[in-house]
Order: sequence, then structure tokens, then C-alpha cells
Amino acid sequence: MSAEPLLEELLIKRSQQKKKTSPLNYKERLFVLTKSALSYYDGRIEKRFRKGLIELSRIKCVEIVKNRGNVIPCQNKYPFQVVYDNSTLYVFAPSHDSRSQWVQSLKDEIKENPMVVAKFHPQFWQEGAWLCCRQADKMAPGCEEYNLFGDISRKPLPPIPGEERRRPPPPAPASVSSDAPPPPDQQEAIVVALYDFPGAEAHDLSLKKGQEYVIVEKCDVNWYKARNKYGEEGYIPSNYVTEKNCSNLVQFVWYSKEVNRNKAEALLRKENKEGAFIVRDSSTAGAYTVSVYVKSLGEGGSAVKHYHIKETQGSPKQYYLAEKHLFSNIPDLIEYHKHNAAGLVARLRYPGGKPDTSAPSTAGFSYEKWEINPSELTFMKELGSGQFGQVRLGKWRAQHKVAIKAIREGAMYEEDFIEEAKVMMRLSHPRLVQLYGVCSQQRPIYIVTEFMELGCLLNVLRKKRGTLNRDVLLSASLDVCQGMEYLENNSFIHRDLAARNCLVNDSMVVKVSDFGMTRYVLDDQYTSSSGAKFPVKWSPPEVFNFCKYSSKSDVWSFGVLMWEVFTEGRMPFEQNSNHEVVTMVMHGHRLYRPKLASEIIYGLMQKCWHERPDKRPSFKELASQIDGILEGDAPSTP
Ligand code: ADP
Repeated sequence: MSAEPLLEELLIKRSQQKKKTSPLNYKERLFVLTKSALSYYDGRIEKRFRKGLIELSRIKCVEIVKNRGNVIPCQNKYPFQVVYDNSTLYVFAPSHDSRSQWVQSLKDEIKENPMVVAKFHPQFWQEGAWLCCRQADKMAPGCEEYNLFGDISRKPLPPIPGEERRRPPPPAPASVSSDAPPPPDQQEAIVVALYDFPGAEAHDLSLKKGQEYVIVEKCDVNWYKARNKYGEEGYIPSNYVTEKNCSNLVQFVWYSKEVNRNKAEALLRKENKEGAFIVRDSSTAGAYTVSVYVKSLGEGGSAVKHYHIKETQGSPKQYYLAEKHLFSNIPDLIEYHKHNAAGLVARLRYPGGKPDTSAPSTAGFSYEKWEINPSELTFMKELGSGQFGQVRLGKWRAQHKVAIKAIREGAMYEEDFIEEAKVMMRLSHPRLVQLYGVCSQQRPIYIVTEFMELGCLLNVLRKKRGTLNRDVLLSASLDVCQGMEYLENNSFIHRDLAARNCLVNDSMVVKVSDFGMTRYVLDDQYTSSSGAKFPVKWSPPEVFNFCKYSSKSDVWSFGVLMWEVFTEGRMPFEQNSNHEVVTMVMHGHRLYRPKLASEIIYGLMQKCWHERPDKRPSFKELASQIDGILEGDAPSTP
């Protein structure tokens, strides 16, 4: 009769430290309340192993724990206490409502107990004292009246209309104000992991996709110190997590940020599942669209329907797809329509796949780790060779594919580069080839970077000539432009942007590589503007005349790179020598319009080739215009 569970939930339990030497820790347990006992188990329901049981008859007090803004070192932020025999069990619930339910149900069950206390301690016992009354004896009598029947965690009820003015507001119960969440600047941010992160070093914290973590410290833009629900702390890559709040959709599997209408249709059709859906950004900035797939609509034939998520006027804002069903946030709206079509062509049954869910690169393998131990590298095939030497495919710690550049003796100002590498490692963006670290304690030194399966962009363009459509070419240009926008924002000048210095991965994503590296080249033919290897054809007049580099000189080079892309890898000014090109460009001559480039696209290239650097657009402006063309704001055909 007593085995039937009244409540069952995964909660977090603080160790009771019954022995002085036992550690303070926080563990997830499955709590089960029955008519006779409160038990907790290790593991999930299927394979549970009981860790503890408290007969309800032994319980003297159940109440929330007031926590005056102190940091709670586990994921669940809503503590309550169960006082029994001579012990206090602290349990942490995931939400206010869950806690209320546990406290109220337990209170109901212990109502008839003869030994219920008259007074209790409303705050934690911590480090040898009660935080509420500072008494240092664990058995010291309680310092606040205990109310077995009240719910001190309940929020005050809204005033009855018309009565607000006549009646003075009731004094807020002490417990409500003291249990209110701390002000936002003192609150710890909670994030959700977007990818698994195994953790490379002992000081790292591993991440599990979908789980929540608390950010303890933002050490730099790329690495945070975080805590998991067991209270373990360590470093995590900042690009592997996203903030948990209702207005941040990135955490949800059904949200795809960079998917337009056409891509959404292609994705959903490929999946071919009734009720498959995604939520994506609308072409109107700041708005969202739900795209749903139905296998047969009336006459047969599948269809993808697109619905704008609408917002009500005034505040607080509400969201809806069907006018009768309003929600205070988008996740709630989606949750509702998962169960009710309510005007949609089908209910939202199945979250459609995200186009690219592979984990991004991290800025180095761990926080502040730029020196890589060469014995942790294994070498595989040769990938190519360049100015600095041979590049090989390899593995770091036997599993992580990397590209390893062995620097030829006499090819580089090595000391300067090694110093700069620490700065370059912090440059981290999905459109930049990531520098993972260096092996600088040996000769030749190695530079270890992200591996890009398809190799350099110039070769890809040439190999695939005739098969690339305009959207692919535009999207390659946009990739590079976004990488460059990031460098521009970080005041980092590339100095040698060209298709040969961009790499392509197996998802056809193009990334910018070798940024800033020309500064370390020890070869006059390459560094002197009159040298045979100087990239004159990619340089603006202020560079080939005065070596005046800036983000705007990178913009000029980007224009030439776009030209390389739209000619599918031709050599700019093919018929002319470097010397001739200098004269031609100085006289206002520019590259011709490639056949595959529309007037609008060619117009963008020409803007990059303005003779005055300050008249050239920024990468930010260019990215937004290319994106506009891709999204269909302007025709991309000639
Ligand atoms: P360098 O900087 O010495 O001139 P590059 O960076 O141009 O050398 O590399 C030479 C060639 O090696 C490239 O053209 C490309 O084919 C290959 N390569 C370089 N880095 C990578 C990488 N990260 N992934 C895949 N291939 C690469």
C-alpha cells in the first residue's frame, strides 16, 4: 500500500557530512516519496540502487532553505531541508514550483507526526555554524518559528482589483523577500552545452551536449571556468555553450540560425517526415519563422509551409502562430504546437535536423595552452608545402585530426612568431583556420592548426570548375568575408588575403588561413614589394607603393579574392607582369567582370578597389550585402 510513489524526481542532494572527515559534495539522486518514506536512489529509474531511506515518521520539519544571495554550488537553485533524527538533509530542486511541490507534499505527509519541531533554522548549516543565527552547535535549537501548514515559498498573491488603494499592502513575509533571487549582476549565468567537450587537461571540465552548467568566471573570451551539477569546476570553451534563457533559441534542437527559406525546404524534404519542422530566422531581422513539412496535402504531393511567429503589440510581448493561443516566449509556443496543430497544417512532431552540428574548433586545446608536446603528435600523409615548409596531416593524442606545419630552417623569424602565436591563438571564429598551438622547444618548430579536408580554396575552385553554381560561389565569398570581419573587429590585418590562403573543409565551408604570417617570412623576394613573390596583383596602390597595410588594404585583396572565386580560380591579370600591373592599377585599370558575376556582385568588387582606402567598404558592410544577395534581396544572376 505504501509503495505507490506520490512524487518522483531527479534532485540534487548535499552530502550530510555525518562524519567530520566526509567531503561536502552534491550528487544527483532520484528522490521518491511514498506514503511511508522518502528514499533516494543512485542512477535512473531503470537501474536504480537505493542510497538512503528516511521513514516519514522520523521527520520533524520540512521547509525551504532561505539563501540570502549566497552562491549555490550546484545546478539546482531551489534548496529545501528535511530535518529528521539528529540530521538535516539538504535537497536542491530545479525550479521554484518543483520545490514547492516537494515541500508541500512532505508537509502533508508529516502533519500527524508527534515530534514536529516548534522552531527551526531557516538557513544552511555551513562550515561549522548556522548561517541564520550563527550558533556553532549543530544541535542548537531553531531560531525561527516553524509553520507546518504554511507555504513560505509562495509568491504573494496579486491584489484584488479595486482594493489596492483602500488597503495598505500586507507586509511581505520575511521569507519571501529573503528568498528572492539575487540581483542580476550577482546571479551566476546558467548555460547549456551545444556540443560534447571531452576536456584535454586535468583543469578542464568536460561537457555533455544538452546539460546545464554554471559559469563561475569568464577568464577570457574563449575560455570560461564552469561548474557542473556535481559541483565540479574546470575550464570550458566558451563557443561550446549558450546562455539558458527563454529568448535564446540557440539551445534548442529545433532552431537553425543560418537557414533561409530554400535551405529549410531542402532540409525538411530530405528528411521526409510528417510534421518535421524547424524554427529559423525570418528574412525580417529579429523575427522567426516556423517551417513545417507535410507528406501529402489534399491532392497528394508533399509541401513545406512557413509560418511567421507573430508578436502582440504592447508589453509584455506575447507570441503566437494561431491568434487564440498566446505565449510569453517562443519555446512555450513551440511546446504547445508540438501537441496541438491549432490552425497549422500539422502539429510540430519532429524537430528537423540542424544542417551542421559538428563541434567547432576551440581556441587551443585547453585554457592558456599553446605549447603542444610533440610526443603527442602522430604524423600521417603530406598535405602540401608552402613558403615555410612541409604541411602534414596528423593526430593529436591519437584522435584529433590536425595539420602540422614543420618550419624549414631559415624560413621564419621564429622567436617573433612564437611570441605572436599566443595572441593568434586567441583569434577564434568559425571562418578562421584555428591555430591550436606550437611545438617551439625543438627544431624544426611545428605549427599545429585545424585540418581542412579539401585543402586550399584556389585548388578547389580549379578542380570543380564548371560545376559550381552562383550560390556556392557567393557563399564561399561570404565565408571569407565573415572571417575577415572578425579580424577587422579585432584590428588584425591579414596582409596576404588570396584564394591560395583560404582552406575548405568537407562541408564546403571556407576559412581564412595564414593571417598575419607574412610578417615572419624571411625571404626578400616575398616581403619586398619589388620582389618576385610579392602579391602585387592582390595589393592596393598604398601597399605596393608605401607598404601601408590596413583592414582597408585587406578589403582590396578581398575584392581580388572574389574575382578569383567568380572566375573559378583564374590568375588575376593573367597576361601581365607584376610591374605592368602596378602601372595599370595606378592608371585606374581594374580586373574585368567575371562571366559568373552579376553587375551587383561585380559592383561589390569594384567598391573594394576604390583607389582611396577610406572610400572602400568595411568587411561588415560587405558581409551584409553579400548576405542580402544570397537571401534573394537582389538578383545574383547577370
Ligand atoms: P605556407 O604558409 O608555408 O606557405 P600553406 O599554408 O600555403 O603553407 O600550406 C601549403 C599547402 O598545404 C596548402 O596549399 C594546402 O594544400 C596544405 N595545407 C596547409 N594547411 C592545411 C590545413 N590546415 N588543412 C589542410 N591542408 C592544409
